[in-house]
Amino acid sequence: MTTGQDTESLIGTIEEGVVRRVLDYGADVELSRSKAPGYLHISQVREEFTSPPLTDLLRVGDTLPVVVVCFDGTRNCWGVSHRAYKNFQKLQTTGLQPGQKLVGEVLHATELRCSLRVEGVQAQLSARPHPWSSYRVLFESGALSPGSTINVEVDRWDASCEALRVQLPQPDVRQLSGEVQQAKVILLRARYVKKNKQRLQNIIYATIDGSDIIRIEAHELLKVEEGFPAGSSVPLRINAIDAYSGMFAADIAWELTQFSALNVPAVGEIRRAPVIWISERRAHCLLDNRVVGYFRKSSVLGEVRERLDTYLDPGDIVEVRIFEHMNVDVARGACCRVDFLRRLKEQFADRTTDEGALVDLGAVRRAGATGGFVRDASFRWNVLEAYDHRCCVCGVRYTVQGRSAMEAAHIVPRSNRGSDLLQNALCLCPMHHWAFDNGLFTIDDELVIRAAGAALSSGEEGAWITKFHGQVAHIGEGDRISRAALSWHRRNIFIEG
Ligand SMILES: [Zn+2]
Repeated sequence: MTTGQDTESLIGTIEEGVVRRVLDYGADVELSRSKAPGYLHISQVREEFTSPPLTDLLRVGDTLPVVVVCFDGTRNCWGVSHRAYKNFQKLQTTGLQPGQKLVGEVLHATELRCSLRVEGVQAQLSARPHPWSSYRVLFESGALSPGSTINVEVDRWDASCEALRVQLPQPDVRQLSGEVQQAKVILLRARYVKKNKQRLQNIIYATIDGSDIIRIEAHELLKVEEGFPAGSSVPLRINAIDAYSGMFAADIAWELTQFSALNVPAVGEIRRAPVIWISERRAHCLLDNRVVGYFRKSSVLGEVRERLDTYLDPGDIVEVRIFEHMNVDVARGACCRVDFLRRLKEQFADRTTDEGALVDLGAVRRAGATGGFVRDASFRWNVLEAYDHRCCVCGVRYTVQGRSAMEAAHIVPRSNRGSDLLQNALCLCPMHHWAFDNGLFTIDDELVIRAAGAALSSGEEGAWITKFHGQVAHIGEGDRISRAALSWHRRNIFIEG
């Protein structure tokens, strides 16, 4: 019987095999040194398939050198190979060693295999045809065009194709783990994740010194072809070997890129951040200006059994740990996946206060060049209904049979992240909306209308504003409007003089 430990100990060793019994398709042998039983399959001793029969080649008592190649579980003995021994000898004549790292010159390559010249020896590189294999990445990137050179590792001599078998070097994560390396982008791939066709996943492949291939997953927002075109240099922080592709997995070291102005926190950093968007299963918090943290309900450990939005509200302050950098987009900002650590109850922002109404942290920029913030589609109608379509200044209703000329005005403009809440809104006629946005009047904390000096000194011309100077605005209950928002308008829009 052979133990598991022996299984590891014999593979790769060279022994003399003493033939004990010759069968139709192989022979039982005894390994001379270890005295262990072995089985030599016919294909491992005879070169040709047609002739001669094995009984003509081997007799009981013959010895021949073999390499132990495996443990044959069904026969409960070692699988040995004379052919592997001959290949080993042939390899020795080339002066090359298994595992030796060399540079090979590409002669011809297809999607499945590549012939090369390595140290003057004809060599073959074959790889799994898997689309995610490093061979395919090299092939697609053009690195296997005739005449180019690649790094390879000697595997064995292969008599069947009279060539040296080589393979791509196996990545060794211990060499690079955690370090930031400058790498060269060789290929970009975009694919849709099957689970959710809407989600585009970008994969960047890069190399350091043309050798180890590094795979970086970037998520949907990053436009890789803009940020890191093939041939460009990208700083990478190597994490691990990606079990799926067998390549290095890495994150882009954002802090060293042109996007560093975004102030993306480092992986592992702990931050306190307000929740800005929330749904049944996911939430966003704001880590920094234009840097969003994303977490799932599953990362809110054990605490939430029902919907996430019954547990957290926009404005809640949460403590999170940066898990990974998901994407960076020059136009829209960065997103990090974060682990939810805890909700900071003592720091809850009171959403009914002025400050809560003043700024909409969740304001999302519109796509495209205009760069404004997306508005709540229901904002205008909510405001008009709340004020019964009556101008807060002149009190007039400019409506005809359900059509309304009235406008919903932001006190803190949307372009300044003013919120879409009623506390930040006035219902104004088009004239007074224009005057309000241009600072020709404002409203003080007592809700009294104050005309600008320029309007007051304009005489009859500005009467449509100045005749309301000193009057109380048609706002209703005193706390309907954010005093902080009014104060902001006085300081930033209103023309004092
Ligand atoms: Zn008006």
